[in-house]
Amino acid sequence: MDKDTSDLNEKIQILKNMIQENGSFVFFGGAGVSTESGIPDFRSADGLYNRESTVPPEKIISHTYFKMHPKEFFDFYKSKMVYTEAKPSVTHEALAKLEQEGICKAVITQNIDGLHQMAGSKNVLELHGSIYRNYCIKCGRPYGLEAIMTGKGIKQGKGRFEGVPVCECGGIIKPDVVLYEESLDESVMNESLALISDTPMLIVGGTSLNVYPAAGMLRYFKGEHLVLINKEPTAFDENAELLIQGALGQVFSRLM
Ligand code: NAD
Repeated sequence: MDKDTSDLNEKIQILKNMIQENGSFVFFGGAGVSTESGIPDFRSADGLYNRESTVPPEKIISHTYFKMHPKEFFDFYKSKMVYTEAKPSVTHEALAKLEQEGICKAVITQNIDGLHQMAGSKNVLELHGSIYRNYCIKCGRPYGLEAIMTGKGIKQGKGRFEGVPVCECGGIIKPDVVLYEESLDESVMNESLALISDTPMLIVGGTSLNVYPAAGMLRYFKGEHLVLINKEPTAFDENAELLIQGALGQVFSRLM
């Protein structure tokens, strides 16, 4: 066995012991939780931010761009942010199983892909919303993902709005995802902050901790055991009691 493998094994054993001693934890995750489901993250080498594009992705998925260029926004959103074929990874599944066993108290996620719920997790706080909820910005009527992706059963815009999903009332149908320049849902944020500040053990995984205010929420953690599992270094690494620099799947497949 090489040194890296034996270090990883040792750390996974430490994590198992910590979970057993504490009895429960809260999980805080990001796009890295879903890369093993085939959904690219933003900041890895092969993530969306490192691909060639004339307009930077963070600009396209901003509120201003959505308002000014709805057609281009939806072209990008539908092709780069929605993965209808994706299935939960071993990490999603392990977290759902650990919730059933009363060990994972909640999953706080920055992801919008709904994979935690698909895996069976019930207590999921979606800080950045979900691709599965969409609503008309004029009358508030709710729509499913299919309306956005296929345009089935809904109107389509014309001219500058071509390919843009439009409600019966004429308003644009917007995904219920938090774009840059938009605020997080207050009740989801408050519930997440309460969970983070009350839990004695927090496992953070698959997030570069670059997106605020989500990343700043970790400052509310007052417990004793902070575990960080990420492929690349983050600004919070030095705060972790246990730091595992590796793939989530390798770790969570051993916690099932
Ligand atoms: P990020 O792209 O900034 O960072 C992802 C981190 O995960 C990276 O540091 C990377 O090294 C790590 N990582 C990737 N695969 C991993 C694996 N298998 N195991 C362990 N670590 C792994 O993502 P972020 O911090 O979540 O912030 C990006 C924003 O983009 C979020 O707001 C999120 O809403 C959104 N986003 C969501 C999805 C999704 O819903 N699946 C996908 C891309 C981006």
